[in-house]
Formats: sequence, structure tokens, C-alpha cells
Amino acid sequence: MKWIIFSAFICLVIAGCAQLKSGKNSSEKPKSIENMKNKIVKSEEEWKNELSPEEYRVLREKGTERAFTGAYWNNHEDGVYLCAACGQELFDSETKFESGTGWPSFFAPLSKEAVEEETDISFGMVRTEVMCGKCGGHLGHVFNDGPKPTKMRYCINSVSLKFQKEKE
Ligand code: FE
Repeated sequence: MKWIIFSAFICLVIAGCAQLKSGKNSSEKPKSIENMKNKIVKSEEEWKNELSPEEYRVLREKGTERAFTGAYWNNHEDGVYLCAACGQELFDSETKFESGTGWPSFFAPLSKEAVEEETDISFGMVRTEVMCGKCGGHLGHVFNDGPKPTKMRYCINSVSLKFQKEKE
């Protein structure tokens, strides 16, 4: 008798679990997910809804804003520059320098993990593209003609950034 009750109980548990699992698979489709490495993955439709047309063109379609037109090329305030798409901290104002290019320029990212770099062979040039380490949004390019101490020049679109002023 005890065995019958025990077996029935086990069957119920298994059936319950199976139902839970199938329910999860069919109905729950996450809108956006942060995967195992804390990366943000969203569909292009979601990005289109969340970003302004100019942000979408630069961040998702790897566009470039016109020089001297962005909000930050001439910004000299102390603070941190965040990703305009996901809020990840990308650059510190302490690494910003006058490049004369018309784009905000930094000699280093805030941390190694903050950005990702990839070879870009578009427009007949070999350049290194810089992307947000968290959402993959296009930020700009990095060149090896920057100032000390790194000699690198991270040439970044203002529209890919959101400046967070340091609290006084
Ligand atoms: Fe991002």
C-alpha cells in the first residue's frame, strides 16, 4: 500500500515538473535578456523602439555622426561617459583629451571589459571598431596615434554616449 502511494506521489511530481517546463517554453518569451556573461541581447526591433533614429543609426547600424556636431566633443566637465543604449560605464573624463577631430576622444576605456574591439574593413580601410562591452552597440574606432600614457585614441561618437556629471 505504501508503495502505491509513494509511486503515485512520484508520478504527480514528474507530471508537475513536465507541465512547468512546457509552460515556460511556450509562453515566456523574454523581451530582452542578460545572458551568462551579463551581456544584453535585444532584437533590432526592440532597439529601434528604445533609441532615437540617430542613436539607432550610429549604435546599431555602425554609423558616424558628423564631426563637431555631437554633444561631447567639446565637453570638459568631470564625470563618466555611459553607453547611450545600455548605461554601461565606458570612459572617464580623466582620459579625455583634445584630439581636434570633432569627436570626443579618450586615451583609454574605463576598464578592459567596458569595451570590445574588432577589426573593421569597411570603406576600404582597416580600422579597429570599438563597441560597448555589454550591449555590443557601435561606439567608434580606436587608433594608435593617441597621447601618453597609452598612445591610443578612442574616437567615439557623442550620440553613443550619455555623460554623467561627477557629483560635487
Ligand atoms: Fe551598451
